[in-house]
Amino acid sequence: MKDIAVFESVERELNRQRNNIELIASENFVSPEILELAGTVLTNKYAEGYPGKRYYGGCKFVDEVETLAKERLCEIYGAEYANVQPHSGAQANTAVYLALLNHGDKVLGMSLADGGHLTHGHPLNYSGINYDFYSYGVSKETETIDYEDFKKKCQEIKPKLVVAGASAYSRTIDFEFMAKCAHEVGAIFMVDMAHIAGLVAAGLHPSPFPHADVVTTTTHKTLRGPRGGVIMCKEKYAADIDRAVFPGMQGGPLMHIIAAKAACFYEAMQPEFKEYAMQVIKNAKTLENVLKEEGFRLVADGTDNHLILIDVKASCGISGKKAERLLDEINITANKNAIPFDSEKPFKASGIRVGTPAMTTKGFMEEDFREVGKIIAYRLKNEETDEIKEECLKRVKALTDKIEMYHDIKYI
Ligand code: PLP
Repeated sequence: MKDIAVFESVERELNRQRNNIELIASENFVSPEILELAGTVLTNKYAEGYPGKRYYGGCKFVDEVETLAKERLCEIYGAEYANVQPHSGAQANTAVYLALLNHGDKVLGMSLADGGHLTHGHPLNYSGINYDFYSYGVSKETETIDYEDFKKKCQEIKPKLVVAGASAYSRTIDFEFMAKCAHEVGAIFMVDMAHIAGLVAAGLHPSPFPHADVVTTTTHKTLRGPRGGVIMCKEKYAADIDRAVFPGMQGGPLMHIIAAKAACFYEAMQPEFKEYAMQVIKNAKTLENVLKEEGFRLVADGTDNHLILIDVKASCGISGKKAERLLDEINITANKNAIPFDSEKPFKASGIRVGTPAMTTKGFMEEDFREVGKIIAYRLKNEETDEIKEECLKRVKALTDKIEMYHDIKYI
């Protein structure tokens, strides 16, 4: 019997995804093929272990799938070894810590307040609870990573592991320099490239390879795959990483998701993916330009990648929380975000984070993002009135009506 309540909610979410302007920088829309693979019968299969060394029978075909995923991932990034089993980005990072660190070891990661991720040492996260995390951040003047301070911290702290990568950082990261500083003090250098993995795959952000010893990423952001995580590493860490993922942290891998990851890597190898990633950056540049023309202050003065942090407090005198709500009400989805040296608490925040990956997948080009920037400005810089809200809703609808997405999907 069909569970109507759940299917109806999923149908409503499908319509939200069809009709909204999705600017959450960490989200994307997978292809119909990836969606199909994520819903295949592979969800039924237990496959603890790794291809050729499983703890269950009947793994011949899922072995084929996982081997393909591993080979493709190594090929895209030029990695020596890949583990494609982590259920998420957080679990990929946790597995790396479990593999390479002992309880209480010193680690240097980017401060969450400056754009880092929870798993890079937040006191309430597994990372901050179990290891002695220190943080580096951005300079007050440029709001870009303070590389000299980073180098000094490496030398003073002498961490066992250095973590690079961020969740809300709009500028190019100099992995080569960071690796050099880490290696000079004998630290292992890890890059969490979750946000920029698609740009790296397309050759549009400098690669963490060959500088990094270990690289983690989610597969669902700019890489445009299913929700999940992966780890790549130098061959010498491969056995430790595998052991940390299974049996260290997880039981059976999600084979349906690994199949969808394999298809994501296939798509990322096609020439069309490079065009897509180029358009993501062009669209972000366009949005940057419009927002600046409209008088907004942007953190780090703009973007080199797929995302922009808007200081809405300085620009319009409102909190990130309020800006998120105002945009939500006109069917533009973004998230409040702390900005560096924020005077507001994270739940209120002074900024919002906007990104172009999802709408670029839907087919938005520069002219569409010009209009998106203008709608954002019109909504946030004016009084909260019904007339303005209605006008914005109409303008959003005019943009989204042009696009058909997942048109043959129906859940009820
Ligand atoms: N690492 C970075 C840099 C991220 O931005 C994120 C998610 O936003 C993660 C890790 C965690 O990924 P997940 O939500 O899949 O656990």
